[in-house]
Formats: sequence, C-alpha cells, structure tokens
Amino acid sequence: LTGAQLAAADRRLCQELTYGIVRWQATLDWLIARKTQARPQKTRLQNLLRAGLYQIFWLDRIPHHAAVHETVELARHAGFNTQAGFINAVLRSYAREAAATRQLLAGLKTEQPHLGYSHPEWLVARWQQRWGPERAARLMEWNNTPPRICARLNTLKADPGKLLTQWREEGVEYDFVRRDWFEENLVFELKSHRPLNRLPSFQQGGFYVQDPSTLLAVRELEPQPGDSVLDFCAAPGGKLTYIAQLMSNTGRLVAHEATSERLQLVEDNCARLGVTCVQTVLPSTLNPQPSTLFDRILIDAPCSNTGVMRRRVDLRWRIRPGEIRRLRVMQLDLLRQAAALLRPGGTLVYSTCSLEPEENREVVDEFLRAHPGFKLERTRELLPFAEGVDGSYVARLRRGVAPV
Ligand code: SAM
Repeated sequence: LTGAQLAAADRRLCQELTYGIVRWQATLDWLIARKTQARPQKTRLQNLLRAGLYQIFWLDRIPHHAAVHETVELARHAGFNTQAGFINAVLRSYAREAAATRQLLAGLKTEQPHLGYSHPEWLVARWQQRWGPERAARLMEWNNTPPRICARLNTLKADPGKLLTQWREEGVEYDFVRRDWFEENLVFELKSHRPLNRLPSFQQGGFYVQDPSTLLAVRELEPQPGDSVLDFCAAPGGKLTYIAQLMSNTGRLVAHEATSERLQLVEDNCARLGVTCVQTVLPSTLNPQPSTLFDRILIDAPCSNTGVMRRRVDLRWRIRPGEIRRLRVMQLDLLRQAAALLRPGGTLVYSTCSLEPEENREVVDEFLRAHPGFKLERTRELLPFAEGVDGSYVARLRRGVAPV
C-alpha cells in the first residue's frame, strides 16, 4: 500500500477488504461452500468470491450490484474468463437472498460459533470451557473488531497541554482514555488523523502508540528515578520507554533483546522519544555478578498473542495448540535466566499478551516451585470483554533477601 498510488479513501477500502477477508475467512468459506457443493476452488478464485461476499455482507456503503459487477470484472482481469459466469451466479444469488442469509449468519453464531465468528474450533472450545459461551462470544466479537489506536503521552518531550494543542493544530481528533492502572491525561484514543509518521507531534516524540493494557506491567514494576532496571525482552520498546519516563530518564535502564535487528527498533524509538538512560545488550552479555544485579526486572515474554488477536488478523489461522506448549517452555527459561540477575529484595514482573493459563499463571507457578526464594505478590489479568483493552497477564514477584 505504501507504494500504491491510491486516494486515501481507496487505500482505506483496500485495507478494510484485506483485513476483513482474513478475519472472516471461515464464515466466508462457509457461505461459498453452500453454493458450490463444497467443491474446492482455486485459491485466487476463492479469494475473489470472498471479496465479493465480504462487500455484500460486511460493508454497507457498496451497493450489492456494484460488488457483484466489480468482482466479475476483476475475475476477468485476473484471467478467470470462463469462471466469470460462475462468480456472477454465486454472488447474485447471495445478493438476492441477502436478508435470509443475514439471519442464517446470525444463527450460525450460536449453532457453530467457530464458523459464525470465524475462529479455529479448538480455540473456541478452549475459551468456552474457560469462560462459558457468552463471554467466549464477546471475546470473538472483540477479535473481529478493528482495533482503536491509542497514544501514550511521552512526558520526556511533552506535557498534556502541549500535546493536545499540537494535535488540534494538526487536525488530530482524540478522546481521553481512563483506566485504574494509570493516571489521567496519559493515554488518548486517536480517532482521526493523517498517517502518524507524517505528524510533527509524532516525529518530535510527543507520544508512543500502544494499547492501554501494555502500561499495567510497567505500573506493577514501579520503576523509580535512579533505579537499576532490566527489560529482558525489550523490543520494540513500548514498555521500556514508559519505564524511562517513570524513571525521569535517570538511572540504569538496560534493554535486552534476542537480535541486533530488534535492538535497532529499540534504539530508533528511544532516539525519537528522547530516552537517553538506556543501554542495549544482546543475550549472553549479562552476568549475575553481585555488584551488577538489578533492582527491578521486566520479562515481557514472547507468547501466543491470543490477547491481541484483533490486531494480528492472520494469527488465528496460524496458531496451533502445540505452539502454546512450546512457548511455555521458552517463557519459563527466560524467566529463570532473568531471575538470576535480580538483587535480593528486588521486584520481578512477568507479563504476556496471552490469555492462555499455560503461558501465564502456570509458568509463574512452575517457576515459584523451583525458586522458593521468590514470593508472588500479586497477579492481574486484563480480559478484553471485561476491561475493553487488549488481553494481558501480569505477575509481580519479589526475591527474598535470604540467598536463593
Ligand atoms: N516489551 C516489548 C514492548 O513493550 O515493546 C515487547 C516484547 S515482545 C512481547 C517479546 C520480545 O521478546 C520480542 O521482541 C522477541 O524478539 C524477544 N525475545 C525472544 N527471545 C528472546 C530472548 N531469548 N532474549 C531476549 N528477548 C527475546
């Protein structure tokens, strides 16, 4: 899209079509199967049918006849001359039966929720077992809704008055976001704006784009100016740069990451936001020497991302049950490595954006069983259907002062 010469409205439509079709793929394929005796189609043909049906049933600004006509033209353009009649027939028959089909789609949400809400069946079963059908449905509804864009004020470069004035000058429309885990005038929803990287307020580091849920782990870490803090999985740096702002850019803040490419993202964000107290390091460069142990460590572990599915539209079709088990082993390993770098009495925060207990409470419990010198102080889970933010899990642990 960056290279395409598209007007802003066409660009938005192209994005909406692409994301929407990926999100609703199972439901779209169910519709297609009903009219094709479930005969498999060539992928490009299937995609054309999906695109036509998406416009008919999920968009309300495109007249049905235009959706049918454009899809048929596109099919011809793509070399499907002989199938143009077939595409026309499928789409036209759905356009004729639109009202009845809408009722079928509504019923599908209760009868076969994985098809009605377009999610993998195993994931739906897992969530229904945990929260019951009604809350599982609300979660899937959430996953199918395009995410809001939220900005966290960067107090190292701006204050609320300055940022809001600049936004008004730039034509940015915003709203205030309030939650119990951060103060007022810190997070704003951006409701309408030009591309962010072209806004001076963004270029000058006035804010960082992140979901409100991501601030909870940092608040639980409670970093103070002058502290020695390690962010063990730091890139791209959303939590790290918020830690730096709570430390007033003073003290020792170490950003640890798996690769130098990921660390480059951290460095770019720190440069834009005016964060100067950060030192970036790669694995195997930190030693548990008593003189260099940290006061506070954050482990924001790589995870299945089931709490942020609305942002990662294709994730639901890639994730496998075995992946959750594999991640859990890695998460526990990262937690062990990081814990060895914490000073006695120090605070350790483990967080993920997963909703799965295997990656959250079970990792922490297993760690605690093997490390009796650590105590669990508290945990909190943010659930999209309860809090209206991305899913997130945070556990705060303290290392005892006696040797571990
Ligand atoms: N805390 C980050 C933020 O707020 O912007 C997001 C971190 S993301 C959930 C997890 C990160 O862990 C990824 O950037 C990944 O590269 C990193 N990672 C994976 N394996 C790692 C390892 N062995 N050591 C350090 N970081 C690792």
